[in-house]
Amino acid sequence: MTGQFDAFGQKFRQFLGVSVPIPRILELEMSNRLNTTPNDMRAFWMPFTANRQFKKEPRLFVSAKDMHYQTHDGRTVLDGTAGLWCVNAGHCRPLITEAIRQQAGELDYAPAFQLGHPKAFELANRLVDIAPEGMNHVLYTNSGSESVETALKVALAYHRVKGNGSRFRLIGRERGYHGVNFGGISVGGIVSNRKMFGTLLTGVDHMPHTHFPDKNAFTKGVPEHGGDIASELERIVTLHDASTIAAVIVEPVAGSTGVILPPKGYLKKLREICTKHGILLIFDEVITGFGRLGTPFAAQYFDVMPDMMVTAKGLTNGVIPMGAVFVTSEIHDAFMQGPEHMIEFFHGYTYSGNPIASAAALGTLDTYKEEGLLTRGAELASYWEEAIHSLRDCPHVIDIRNIGLIGAIELAPIAGEPTKRAFNAFLKAYEKGLLIRTTGDIIALSPPLIITKAEIDELFSKLREVLIANA
Ligand code: PLP
Repeated sequence: MTGQFDAFGQKFRQFLGVSVPIPRILELEMSNRLNTTPNDMRAFWMPFTANRQFKKEPRLFVSAKDMHYQTHDGRTVLDGTAGLWCVNAGHCRPLITEAIRQQAGELDYAPAFQLGHPKAFELANRLVDIAPEGMNHVLYTNSGSESVETALKVALAYHRVKGNGSRFRLIGRERGYHGVNFGGISVGGIVSNRKMFGTLLTGVDHMPHTHFPDKNAFTKGVPEHGGDIASELERIVTLHDASTIAAVIVEPVAGSTGVILPPKGYLKKLREICTKHGILLIFDEVITGFGRLGTPFAAQYFDVMPDMMVTAKGLTNGVIPMGAVFVTSEIHDAFMQGPEHMIEFFHGYTYSGNPIASAAALGTLDTYKEEGLLTRGAELASYWEEAIHSLRDCPHVIDIRNIGLIGAIELAPIAGEPTKRAFNAFLKAYEKGLLIRTTGDIIALSPPLIITKAEIDELFSKLREVLIANA
């Protein structure tokens, strides 16, 4: 049998004129579609991927269950990153899968504009129930990036409907990540995501980031030093004048830049400054939302109430694209004026509140509730903290950071080859059956919230082997 497939694979590669090896699973898949779908991996330009490296040594997941993936070459991989920070309830969970199956057979699509379907409303109510008090309304999107764009547009429009149209500026932060659309990269502060794309949005300014490794390296949890940097926002307000500023957007815990925590008192101070000057505060909770810190949202963890919360990822357990922007009644009600037959806010997506996405989100919330996952991170946080900091003695480790079920291990870069040391660790971990994520020379970890203590031990003992092998 194997020989037969090998022979087929060879013939198939000849047929396609492909020189790179094709993973067995793709060969089998392709064999069924030989005359219709040529598939040699060249056509798919992969996102945020080293395409040439990947296509020489493909890494494909073909199935998953709970904490583990199965690879195309038959190996099991422990998921140390909840996919891309999204599979908070673990993989292929029955309530979610069944909800999607049922919904697809009952109501596949309903127009999102001027019409609706019951589950979108039910979901909004359920979301408001777990959100901080006062976050009473939800706008749907299809991703974190779209949630960011939506929140920024709501902020500008809100000031305008309140008669403050001169408030057009948006303030982000260095090293911030708010997705990849134009608004998000404008307020974001990751240089590689911005530098190719011209002038971006005008009227944007950035606060300094909050990473102070000299003072805070190897801090367990929220660092002591650096909260005062929030007062830089006062300087920016003085420079531009409050009457021109619409909103400040920050990730309560910055994820994609390599996990940067807010120093003690920092977020409260931002809140005070925004309130004082009538500026809206937006928390981008795309990674912190849905239990990552041991509370439903980071706003509750830090006890700081923003005016809007941007979410996606864990909303549907990553299974179906969906995002949600939470806004206060104050913001929502400001739009509810003028003739009743008129649209109040000219914004929305064909798939806003899509029935299957809504069903998936309801199945996800049911799973979170049944298994207490939105607060499970709090129970595991100290075990997680001890486990990650036990790697302090590993080669090239220059910092370890943690909060809730998030962790980061920063490695000293190889001289002249930034990012390579961490990328090598990623490849070695994958070979050893562990999924980690890297940004620059930082390893970021964010496992599904169902992880057990034994699996935490397994994760860090594998990672120790990887870091030693990578020395
Ligand atoms: N905002 C934050 C804080 C994120 O971490 C991400 C993605 O990682 C996004 C926005 C963008 O989300 P998406 O990739 O779903 O567009």
